Amino acid sequence: MTARILVVDDVPANVRLLETRLLAEYFDVLTASNGVEALAICEKERVDVVLLDIMMPGMDGFEVCRRLKADPRTEHIPVVMVTALDQPADRVRGLEVGADDFLTKPVNDLQLMTRVKSLVRLKMLTDELRLRAATTRDIGIEELLNSRIHADAEEAPRVLLIDQRRASSEKLAAALESSARLTRVEDPQQGFFDAVNGSFDAVLISTGLEGFDPLRTCSQLRSIDRTRFTPIIMIADADEDQLIMRGLDLGINDYVTRPVDVQELKARLRTQVRRKRYNEGLRASVAETIEMAVTDPLTGLYNRRYLDSHLQTLFDRARSRGRPLSIMITDLDRFKSINDSWGHEAGDAVLREFSGRVRRNVRGIDLACRYGGEEFVIVMPDTEGAIAHKIAERLRREIEGEVFHIGGDRDAIHVTVSIGVAAMAPGSDSVAGLLKRADTALYEAKNTGRNKVVAQAA
Ligand code: GH3
Ligand code: MG
Ligand code: MG
Repeated sequence: MTARILVVDDVPANVRLLETRLLAEYFDVLTASNGVEALAICEKERVDVVLLDIMMPGMDGFEVCRRLKADPRTEHIPVVMVTALDQPADRVRGLEVGADDFLTKPVNDLQLMTRVKSLVRLKMLTDELRLRAATTRDIGIEELLNSRIHADAEEAPRVLLIDQRRASSEKLAAALESSARLTRVEDPQQGFFDAVNGSFDAVLISTGLEGFDPLRTCSQLRSIDRTRFTPIIMIADADEDQLIMRGLDLGINDYVTRPVDVQELKARLRTQVRRKRYNEGLRASVAETIEMAVTDPLTGLYNRRYLDSHLQTLFDRARSRGRPLSIMITDLDRFKSINDSWGHEAGDAVLREFSGRVRRNVRGIDLACRYGGEEFVIVMPDTEGAIAHKIAERLRREIEGEVFHIGGDRDAIHVTVSIGVAAMAPGSDSVAGLLKRADTALYEAKNTGRNKVVAQAA
C-alpha cells in the first residue's frame, strides 16, 4: 500500500516542491494551504504522515498539531513540523505540542525521505494494532485509548544510556535527572544485555564508542523480541550524517546531535516514550481482547468459539502427521435439578468446580472447552480411543467419588457426569463426524443410566 503524505503550507511553491519530491518516491500526496483544511483532510481521509509548515496565517502549525494530537481520531498520525529557520525553540515547542519530528527549510532530500519513511513504518505498525484492537472488541477505539493507553503516560520513563565518555554521560544524567529514571552503562555489549534483560522505555546510544560500532548494538536491539519495539535515540556528532542515516535505516527512532540541547532531548524522549506506550497499550489491549473473545467467563476454560476454530487445526495436524486424536463430550447429570434444589448460583459453583477437576485431569496439550450450559468438550491430541476412554472413566470417577462442597461446608452436592468418547477414524473422517459420534455416544450414556462413559466406534 502506498503511503499518503499530507503537505501543509500556505506558500504554493513550497507545497509543490515537497509534492514533487514525494511523488518521485512514489508516495501519494495530498495538499492543504491552511490549518483548517489540513484538519478537515485528516479527519476524513487516511493520512500516514503530515508535513506541517509552522508559519501560516490564521491557525499556525503549532495549533494544527495540537488539535490533531488532542483528537483521538487523529492523534496517531505522525506529524513532521517544517520550520523556516533552524530554531531550537521552535523545535522544542513543536515537540511539546506533540509533533513527532521536524525538518528545517530548505529541506534536505535525504533527511526528508528517511524521516518520512521511518514514520510511515511506525504508522503502519500502529494502524495494524489499531485495526486489531478495533475489530476484536466492539468498543470505540477512543474509549480504549483513554482507558488504558494513557494510564501511565506521564510516569517517568526508564531509560538506558550507553555512553563510554564518562563526562558526557554524567552531563546527560544530570540533565535528565528530573524527567527519567536513568541507568548508565559504558560497555556497549553490556548495554545490549542490560537492555534485553531490563525493561526500558527507551535506549540512548552515544556514537564514538571506542572500537565499537554503535549501529551494531542498534541492529542487535532490533533483532531481539524483547527490545524490538524499544525506542532508540542516537546521540551523534553533527557531521555524522551517514551514520545517522544508516541508523535510521536500521530502525533507530530518532537522534540528537552534540552539543546536546537538553530541552530537545527531553522532548524527543518524551515523544518516543509516548508512542511506545501507546503501542504497548494497544498491543496489550489486543491480547486481552483476544483472550476475552475465546474464554468462558464463568469457568475460565476456552469457549465454544475457540473450539470451533481450533479443533479443525488440531484435527488437520493430527491427520497430516499420522497421529491419533480423541475427543470427549461431557454433560452433567440432572443438572437442572441441582439448580432447582440448590439455586442457580450453587449451579454456577458446581460448573466452576467441575472445570477445575477437568483441568486437573487433562494434560497441558489437551484442549478443554465449555461447549455450552453444562456441556464440556475435551480434545486430546496424540491419544488413541482406548486411552481416551480410560481418561474419561477416570474423570467420571473423580466427579462421582467426591461430593462438591459449595459455599463453605454447608452444601455437599452429589454430582455425576455422563461422557461420550470418539476417536478420529482413518479415511474420510471430519471434525463434524467426530463431534457427531461423541455426541451420539453421550446420548447413549444418558439413555442407558447416566453416570457412565460410552465410546462410539467410527
Ligand atoms: P441430563 O442428565 O439429561 O443432562 O439432565 P440435565 O438436567 O442436566 O439437562 P438439561 O439439558 O435438561 O438441563 C441443563 C440445565 O443446565 C438447564 C440450565 O438451566 C442449566 N444451565 C445451563 N447453563 C447454566 C449456567 O451457566 N449456570 C447454571 N447454574 N445453570 C446452567
Ligand atoms: Mg445435563
Ligand atoms: Mg444438557
